[in-house]
Formats: sequence, structure tokens, C-alpha cells
Amino acid sequence: MRTTLLGPFELAYDDIERELPPSICGVFALGYVDAADIFRVQRIGRDDDLRQRLRELIGSSTRFKFAIATSRQSAFERECVLFHRFQPPGNITHPDRPKRTDWLCPVCARFHP
Ligand SMILES: [Zn+2]
Repeated sequence: MRTTLLGPFELAYDDIERELPPSICGVFALGYVDAADIFRVQRIGRDDDLRQRLRELIGSSTRFKFAIATSRQSAFERECVLFHRFQPPGNITHPDRPKRTDWLCPVCARFHP
């Protein structure tokens, strides 16, 4: 599954407004750029309104990356892949699927009965 993220951008109002259209769902990674110029992921997530969510997270990290998802399920699956790949220190628990869905994590199939 493709997990390419755009960025990093400054986790600040101007960059968020410039990069993200309103009311789109997607995934994001928050983090910082280290001395070797490598983006270090601290936390990942998803939201049905990515721009609004990132606005709320201003101040929690210095940079963000993101990807627009084609559906809410796609956003969930991509969040799962990011979670398993980066094991971010800011994500203690596995991403939750929305209520009233039977979606499965594409990596660990955690929600198999
Ligand atoms: Zn999983």
C-alpha cells in the first residue's frame, strides 16, 4: 500500500492553509527534522477534516506531512500502515476504526473476530 506523504511543512497556520483544501479526509504525520535533515515521526493520525485537525495540533510538533485519502476507509488503512511502519512514540495504541465499520488493519488484521 502506498504511504507516500507530502512534506514536511511547518506545522503553522500559513502552511496548513496553503497545502490543504478544506474538509478533506486524510492522514498526517507530525514530527521534526533532525540535524541530518531527516524527518522524524513523533505521531501519526487521520481525520475527516485534515486541515481543521492540523490547525488544532499547532504547537504539538514543528513539522507535518500528510496525504489526502480517497475515502474514510482508505484513510484508516493508511493510518494503520504508518502506525506499524513508524511505531511513533506519540501513538500508544493501535488506530481505531470508526464505529459501525468492520474494517480491518491491512497489516495485522487486528479486528479479525
Ligand atoms: Zn494493525
